[in-house]
Amino acid sequence: MGKYEREQHRAPRRRRRNKWHYYIPTVILLVVALVCVVTIGWTIASVLKSQDPSPNDESGPNNITINTQPTTEATEPSTEPGPSLDELLAEADFIAAGYDYDTAISMLKASPEFSTDNELGARVEQYTNAKSKLIKYTAMDTVTHIFFHSLIVDTDRAFDGDVDQDGYNMYMTTVDEFKAILQQMYDRGFVLISPYHLAHEVTDDNGTRFTYGDIRLPAGKTPFLMSQDDLNYYSYMIGTGSGKNETPIFVDENNDGFAHKIVIGEDGYPTCEYMDANGNITTGDYDLVPVLESFIQEHPDFSYHGARAILGMTGYEGVFGYRTKPSYEAAMGSEAYAAEVQAAKEVAQCLKDHGWILASHSYGHPAYGNISADRVAADSEKWTNTVASIIGKTDVILYPHGSDIHNWRKYTTDNEKFVTLYNDGYRYFFNVDGNQYWNQLGENYFRGGRRNLDGIRMYHNPDKLTDLFDVDTVFDKARPLPVPSTGGGM
Ligand SMILES: [Zn+2]
Repeated sequence: MGKYEREQHRAPRRRRRNKWHYYIPTVILLVVALVCVVTIGWTIASVLKSQDPSPNDESGPNNITINTQPTTEATEPSTEPGPSLDELLAEADFIAAGYDYDTAISMLKASPEFSTDNELGARVEQYTNAKSKLIKYTAMDTVTHIFFHSLIVDTDRAFDGDVDQDGYNMYMTTVDEFKAILQQMYDRGFVLISPYHLAHEVTDDNGTRFTYGDIRLPAGKTPFLMSQDDLNYYSYMIGTGSGKNETPIFVDENNDGFAHKIVIGEDGYPTCEYMDANGNITTGDYDLVPVLESFIQEHPDFSYHGARAILGMTGYEGVFGYRTKPSYEAAMGSEAYAAEVQAAKEVAQCLKDHGWILASHSYGHPAYGNISADRVAADSEKWTNTVASIIGKTDVILYPHGSDIHNWRKYTTDNEKFVTLYNDGYRYFFNVDGNQYWNQLGENYFRGGRRNLDGIRMYHNPDKLTDLFDVDTVFDKARPLPVPSTGGGM
């Protein structure tokens, strides 16, 4: 049982200095310049009695940048001394370990000591040499995509024989299993990429279309994608009651042994809050986000250019464990509700700043393949209004139940559901598929299959996982057997 209960106070992670720190003087200059330009602009505008300020900056989902590094707002001039040479080199080494040699080289060259310090020059040479050995990955249509639900921390409470036990056993993965999977995939040369590395939109003389990306890795490395569905910490998992009414449910000691919310850790990285069987709440590596983050801190070569996983959220109980569903406001009171929304917004920003990609998993978790086009449109709109309003827009959707809106053929504009989702901003569509890989580069979208690495798959189809890890050494002995083979899905 729960060895994690005794691991609650894990050692703090090495806190990385923010590499943008080195550019602060430049950024300050730019800000000053911007202020001047804006001031002059306003003056001219008022002289000309210009009608109106510029329209709202609604950058479309296509313009989403790949947040591969933490970002810093350059609003306050820093009086801190610059980083030491050792800190600069450690940070550059971390970035270079993720195969982003160009950024690492730029960081060193931007140092005022670059022209005088031999170590910096030697490091640049080392990075340049390593970069020259990278090989363009060409088997893009074979990139695999694995996914998980919330991870089980305490198997005693998840597998306690209550009505939820079978669902957890079938559709969930334990923290121990997840850690073993990461280690074995790392040992086999897998490297986590983002969907934006895999495929993206380009515009040139031939118009706008989707194309595969340019991924460069050392020989023997294999890129893969990862996602997590339902990062909501639903009531049935974390407390007493179903939560399917208009009263929000918060964590209590009857929780089933899962983390119950994402919070921002003391080191600025996203982490999880967890209540143990005695009702004590601690923060630490209790779910996919912090476990993967810690693993990458230890093994930066597991993440390509700072990639993290895709996180899919529904809206019907709020996001990340915050009870942000609008109809909860009446029961909670405006102040408490506003606090939940504010906290969820901050967590969303923190996740994005650290490279995580936030995605739609629909509002109400209906099977998009089985419902009418009108219902898909209504559900998608509700997600936009109640979830995107908190976590921001996205162009990635993880279909609930893995239920795709079309067969294996390409989406076309005859497909009403596709047109709706496209107009709602989606360009990356992911279903669930048992095959090793299933990728489809459409004219104006990317679509892919995802593999569930859960109890049902590991117990019933271990042969389908041999490319990734050895099921015998991963499978958690605490699972009740046999793992049921049919259920309602999740
Ligand atoms: Zn789901």
